[in-house]
Amino acid sequence: MSLAHGRHYLAIPGPSVMPDRVLQAMHRAAPNIYTGELVEMVHGLVPDLKAVARTSHDVAMYISNGHGAWEAALTNTLSRGDKILVLGTGRFCIGWGDMATALGVETQVIDFGLTSDIEMAQVAEALAADTEHRIKAVLAVQVDTSTSVKNDILALRQTLDAAGHPALLCSDNIACLGCDAFFMDEWGVDLMVTGSQKGLMTPPGMSFVYFSDKADRARDQADLVTPYWDWRPRVEPEIFYRYFCGTAPTHHLYGLRVALDMILKEEGLENVWSRHATLARAIWAAFDTWGQGGELKLNIAERETRSHSVTTVDMGGGNGARLRDWMIAEAGITLGVPLGMDDRPEDFFRIGHMGHVNAQMVLGVLGSIEAGMKALQIPHDPGGLGAAVEVISGSGGLTA
Ligand SMILES: *Cc1c(COP(=O)(O)O)cnc(C)c1O
Repeated sequence: MSLAHGRHYLAIPGPSVMPDRVLQAMHRAAPNIYTGELVEMVHGLVPDLKAVARTSHDVAMYISNGHGAWEAALTNTLSRGDKILVLGTGRFCIGWGDMATALGVETQVIDFGLTSDIEMAQVAEALAADTEHRIKAVLAVQVDTSTSVKNDILALRQTLDAAGHPALLCSDNIACLGCDAFFMDEWGVDLMVTGSQKGLMTPPGMSFVYFSDKADRARDQADLVTPYWDWRPRVEPEIFYRYFCGTAPTHHLYGLRVALDMILKEEGLENVWSRHATLARAIWAAFDTWGQGGELKLNIAERETRSHSVTTVDMGGGNGARLRDWMIAEAGITLGVPLGMDDRPEDFFRIGHMGHVNAQMVLGVLGSIEAGMKALQIPHDPGGLGAAVEVISGSGGLTA
């Protein structure tokens, strides 16, 4: 006998749970890609994509996953031999930097480790040392999906400004756009990359590169630009076919249209951010309570630097893998495997809580985790689920 039969819940940090309505919108015959409904629909998508990033700058759409957006960002702004500064707070920014190295770009990496956000003093020091302004771009992630840390992108802007440094500020928001608050223009971000399959609740396969006028001027100098990844023809193209440098990702576009309506028109972006914040606080309340006495803890200690879209848990004692297996077999929930925790991967798991996630889903995950810890005799303090209920009910837990 297993209690896992019933609707399975994939609680990994991307691809995230897709709304049935998004999937249904994709279930249709191929549309005409030259004129008509699809063409009109895509013209309308662009302002909404800008709205979720709070920007009036340009956005280029790609048929790719997030790695494609990384490469587009680098090749449109850099030349071989250019230098960039990579701010590592987990696997993802390091991976983006590795891609730059492979393209022939010189990378200076500051690695802040697996449990910390970017320390601005160290960035300021590196910028001050670059008296000739050889650093052309600074790469950071707002949320690193491996560690579940959230970086302060506005503080990074202020650090660049205080140093009087002209490098482009480039942010990877693949894990958190539409989950954590982000203001591209207000925060002075020059370039931002994101993908369809996390906060945007659409299947993997589309990515987006947002770029400021300053980043677009860098495009004029960049010798890494290639015809396919070039962002210029993808922005307000003369003919629709050029939006995607070929056939459009027709069905993804129908799904994305519904997802953006759900975010912007039905719920409202600020409400979406608040929902993610409260659900994240419920998860933190549970683990902070369960872990009061023992080994079990959230990977990121500081609340201000915890992501609202993904949570990395350190169970200790090889219990991350045991619990993950139990959850699949006995509760019908798949938790995320760890990424980058190479010295003791068995201790960790990740919970994806991005996009189409609500109170009952989070309480279901947390209640099942509590049951799993009991079943497997994993030491934990009592009361975690109750602490989450306090947050969800709003009875004082919201500020706790
Ligand atoms: C998921 C993710 C990526 C990679 O996206 P893919 O679609 O898997 O290529 C990059 N950066 C961050 C922060 C992510 O969460």
